[in-house]
Amino acid sequence: MARADWHADARPKMGTEVSVYFWHENEVAGNAIIEEIFAEVDRINAVMSTYVETSQISDINRRAADEAVFASEELFQLIRRSLDISVLTRGAFDITYDSVGQHYDFRERRRPDEATTESERQHINFRYVTLDQGKGTVSFAQQGVRINLGGIAKGYVVERGVEILRQHGVEYGVVTAGGDSRLLGDRRGRPWMIGIRDPREDGEVAISVPLEDEAISTSGDYERYFDEDGIRYHHIIKPSSGRPVEGVHSATVFGPDAVMTDALSTSVFVMGVDEGLKLIGCLPDYEAIVIDAEEQIFYSSGLADPASGEADSPSLAPAPGTC
Ligand code: ADP
Ligand code: MG
Repeated sequence: MARADWHADARPKMGTEVSVYFWHENEVAGNAIIEEIFAEVDRINAVMSTYVETSQISDINRRAADEAVFASEELFQLIRRSLDISVLTRGAFDITYDSVGQHYDFRERRRPDEATTESERQHINFRYVTLDQGKGTVSFAQQGVRINLGGIAKGYVVERGVEILRQHGVEYGVVTAGGDSRLLGDRRGRPWMIGIRDPREDGEVAISVPLEDEAISTSGDYERYFDEDGIRYHHIIKPSSGRPVEGVHSATVFGPDAVMTDALSTSVFVMGVDEGLKLIGCLPDYEAIVIDAEEQIFYSSGLADPASGEADSPSLAPAPGTC
């Protein structure tokens, strides 16, 4: 039976929830598209998850310190983009954070002790990862280096999901993986309203942003964490210290590409309000909203509305010559 309607589904995937929502004229075809998208999510996870022993990324982590390891074109390109973003963010985004990151288990409330953090953080440096474009291989400069695409792979997944929607002629939809969403078109004549969570009030929305045909990613210290002796141990690691970042509760970035917004939201979280918003001010297509540890909300220069006169919404424009 053909019936034009919104189609929706949500499933636990990649350690989070992946959801799809789109308009389609035909229910049977709509269901087939949903299955195709979730199959694509499973395929990408099987290649890129460090939790899957047979994944290419696990293979690279086991062998790349000893020899150059072949990576498929898709994985190679995502690693290359990750390294480019490390350069752009002066090391705030760094997929080698995992030498320390692997010792955290947030469900089990497990964290590395001081000695482990101190020794493992020596292996964090994106410059230890070498790519050979001609051969399509990845190698590590030393033993102990590990890479993890947790800060960028969900953005890639939602881009792929929306690409599948497009291939089937869908014009209005959204694909979400955890804190990363890619919007296709608008909501049939109205913008999508995307809520940014209040970092400390479960289920509450701090800000709603109207968006169309864009990607939006939020990194928060409330996604994967545990509290111990008044300290919040969470999943975003400052590469220079090997410890969870302090000072920011959430960082949201939106712009044309979900791979970028995913990596940039993690980056801005690491860089903090000043440095993070300066970086975003230098990227004309991207905007950001940061909520700091005092629950104060900061907007990137492109979002600031001087006419609003809101005293509690400072905007940090890049100083001339800083980009
Ligand atoms: P979420 O996974 O909730 O969408 P993020 O996009 O911010 O949140 O990604 C956080 C993930 O990024 C962590 O779970 C970890 O896998 C990875 N990560 C942590 N610190 C860094 C870092 N400094 N650079 C790159 N990736 C990181
Ligand atoms: Mg991210």
